[in-house]
Amino acid sequence: AFNAQKKGTINGKGVLNNRISEHIFTMLDAIGVPNHFIRRLNMREQLIRQVEIVPIEVVVRNIAAGSLSKRLGIEEGTKLPRTIIEYYYKDDALGDPMISDEHIAAFGWASQEEMHDISDLAIRVNDFLSGLFAGIGIKLVDFKLEFGRLFDNDFGRIILADEISPDGCRLWDTETNERLDKDRFRRDLGGEVEAYQEVARRLGLLPEGGDHSVLDLDSHRKRRGK
Ligand code: 5GP
Repeated sequence: AFNAQKKGTINGKGVLNNRISEHIFTMLDAIGVPNHFIRRLNMREQLIRQVEIVPIEVVVRNIAAGSLSKRLGIEEGTKLPRTIIEYYYKDDALGDPMISDEHIAAFGWASQEEMHDISDLAIRVNDFLSGLFAGIGIKLVDFKLEFGRLFDNDFGRIILADEISPDGCRLWDTETNERLDKDRFRRDLGGEVEAYQEVARRLGLLPEGGDHSVLDLDSHRKRRGK
């Protein structure tokens, strides 16, 4: 977390992210969002198309949280008047600084045409995922996307890359606003695996009943004395 400034090991998180990301990328493919996913190979690996990654993190926000709340003093949970797209330059050493279209054009990180495709795809992904998560009692607060160029001869076409999982999304329970994402780790809330399992379970990726279906974040918090 925080560009590798905070580190920890969470057993089973990679397996859950692999399943969740497979599910989401497969559905995005079905609605015509081109992406790098080919197939999941096993619990921890997937086969993907090789792309030249665009060095920009694309953040889509529906509700104020995280760095936007901090930077602009807007209370977390405030519904934004419209969806906001932000760009960050992918550079861990610099702490992924926020950038504008002007920087992207001036430094040639992506062409105007590519930026048009990227923002268009980001909005389509947001519309689709907001509906998908709303249907399972989850608010899609914000998320991060990455894109790459898929080369066909000399022509590079923009496709969605990276992963979509609770690591790069803020997912809040609709009823309780319970965090079901990486903020549990970032903010020392505990119950990371339970939260990721709950997302997977609601997406229909884990069997109902049995150990995996139990989300008991309240009792988890009590056990930790919080
Ligand atoms: P914020 O700018 O508020 O910290 O993050 C906005 C959204 O983008 C959050 O959903 C967060 O998870 C995601 N995000 C931003 N930067 C990164 C990153 O470097 N890695 C991951 N996994 N997610 C990120």
